Amino acid sequence: MKKFPRTEKTRIRRLPKRGSYDRDTIYALIDEALICHVGFIVDAEPHVIPTAIARLNNDIYLHGSRLSRMLKHLAEGKDACIVVTHLDGLVLARSGFHHSMNYRSVVIYGNGVPVTGRDKREILDLFVERLVPGRTTDIRAINRKELNATTVVKFELDQVSAKIRCGPPVDDAEDYDLPIWAGELPFTLQAGKPRNDPAMRQKLPVPSYLTRYKRK
Ligand SMILES: Cc1cc2nc3c(=O)[nH]c(=O)nc-3n(C[C@H](O)[C@H](O)[C@H](O)COP(=O)(O)OP(=O)(O)OC[C@H]3O[C@@H](n4cnc5c(N)ncnc54)[C@H](O)[C@@H]3O)c2cc1C
Repeated sequence: MKKFPRTEKTRIRRLPKRGSYDRDTIYALIDEALICHVGFIVDAEPHVIPTAIARLNNDIYLHGSRLSRMLKHLAEGKDACIVVTHLDGLVLARSGFHHSMNYRSVVIYGNGVPVTGRDKREILDLFVERLVPGRTTDIRAINRKELNATTVVKFELDQVSAKIRCGPPVDDAEDYDLPIWAGELPFTLQAGKPRNDPAMRQKLPVPSYLTRYKRK
């Protein structure tokens, strides 16, 4: 199916025209993200924790220390809400009320299952590849101790929505005559110049996947 179901839980109430349930749109927004924020409840107290995210097919993955409260909780299949946000710019209107932001965001609800065996190794490589495509061919393979110290949790995408705002401000009709600058200040995420680790013992060139690094 090309679209995720629009359920009572994922129905966008305010400005629903900005909503999207299209799978390809949502996959692209998740793949562009380096991080997400994970909401979960422990002992009736809500927590929101930032962490890395990776997608493969219709599943997303979170990973981290076996000792992490968040991962222990998620691996038990407790309710979670995972959010991806891309901030694309500021929107300057003619009144403070209509100031806004251009953004693309995804909200995912689900219950995780722990990933084990061969799949776990593959997903951990996927995390590295998502951050820096090409990097896994250069690095030492993960060892048993590292594998045991890491938890990987999978969430199937089902209860998912995206919301997208783009374009100029939307002002009150009478305000368009005011002599006030209005418009957009676009933002992009850009990589800086690679810096050598001072502990590097050999003189090595910066890999081409870094000199040509670009986020999309
Ligand atoms: C960078 C950024 C800045 C924002 N700033 C503001 C702000 O200052 N004030 C404000 O009111 N709103 C802001 N929003 C929009 C905000 O995320 C909600 O969409 C908004 O509060 C409307 O919520 P609601 O009551 O209609 O929906 P809710 O009842 O809160 O949500 C219903 C369902 O709609 C879906 N949904 C809601 N919002 C989103 C979303 N952003 N992305 C994907 N799915 C979503 C979820 O599935 C959710 O369960 C911002 C969004 C982003 C990404």
